[in-house]
Amino acid sequence: MIQMKHVLAFFLSSMILVLSAQDEKWAIVIHGGAGDINRENMNPEAEARYRAALDSALTIGSAVLESGASSMDAVEATIRYLEDCPLFNSGKGAVLTSEGTAELDASFMNGQTRNAGAVAGVKTIRHPISAARLVMDSSVHVMMAGKGAEIFASDYDLEFVENEFFITERRKAYYERQKARQAGAEGGDGAPLIKKYGTVGCVARDQNGNLAAGTSTGGMSNKRFGRVGDAPIIGAGTFADNNTCAVSCTGHGEYFIRWVVAYDVAALMEYADMSLADAARRVVNEKLVEAQGSGGLIAVDGEGNVTMPFNSGGMYRGYATSEGEKFVGLYGDE
Ligand code: ASP
Repeated sequence: MIQMKHVLAFFLSSMILVLSAQDEKWAIVIHGGAGDINRENMNPEAEARYRAALDSALTIGSAVLESGASSMDAVEATIRYLEDCPLFNSGKGAVLTSEGTAELDASFMNGQTRNAGAVAGVKTIRHPISAARLVMDSSVHVMMAGKGAEIFASDYDLEFVENEFFITERRKAYYERQKARQAGAEGGDGAPLIKKYGTVGCVARDQNGNLAAGTSTGGMSNKRFGRVGDAPIIGAGTFADNNTCAVSCTGHGEYFIRWVVAYDVAALMEYADMSLADAARRVVNEKLVEAQGSGGLIAVDGEGNVTMPFNSGGMYRGYATSEGEKFVGLYGDE
């Protein structure tokens, strides 16, 4: 017969297990793209808008983590906000392809299970990050592209919009300037102009110690239609594994794909025993610099340590932790 003391002992040991798994510590890191971001080409009003948007994104993600919800919920809620913010190159405010359309890429990874999902080249899904999470949670696949991804997503409760919804006046004007230069007008040399332009990302560690990462982008301005960057590629633009870290990248995607940047940070931690900060610095400030691949990344490890290295002029970025820390930065000297 089971004695009362055994029941009590079982109950107590279960409680200890639950309490030790939930250490109530959380951390969230975000980026809104890396590039030529410096004080000389930023006016005070624009700077204030970027800082306020990054601060709001952190407030949204922090509230999710503080409530005890999962890092995946925090990453999705934060990126949905950034996708709707026209300042950043993802969702509304995405840069335009050489055809003048918005083609969006996004990916999501669960560090606890190493399950992952991604969409590439979608044009009508308002929140590509939620579509990426759907591919992860509700399909047997990891990556879906174009029409197929949109038809898959239409079976679920996602919002669909016309492509024009994503196109802002600012991006349209930039596109037209690029086209004029490409045509040799305004003293242009006729060479095709492809410029990198942002991306948003979020990584988080929740109170249960689970990591998640997500990235969403319009890619590079004036990219050929059909071009897919690093953002939807697991291991290149996004990676998460509870045993090492969660990473989201921004920068010249072709380099991030070939240098398998997000996974390289995790691999240096796993195989070379490097700390998160050392591994990320090695990849971004040494390997990518040697390769001339510009950009940066954000990352968090299983202990909640965060890092945000970049090798460009600046990176829209920020982090917050359960210890009450909150930081928002734009420039290289912050
Ligand atoms: N990595 C993105 C891409 O190549 C662009 C960026 O982050 O700036 O599509």
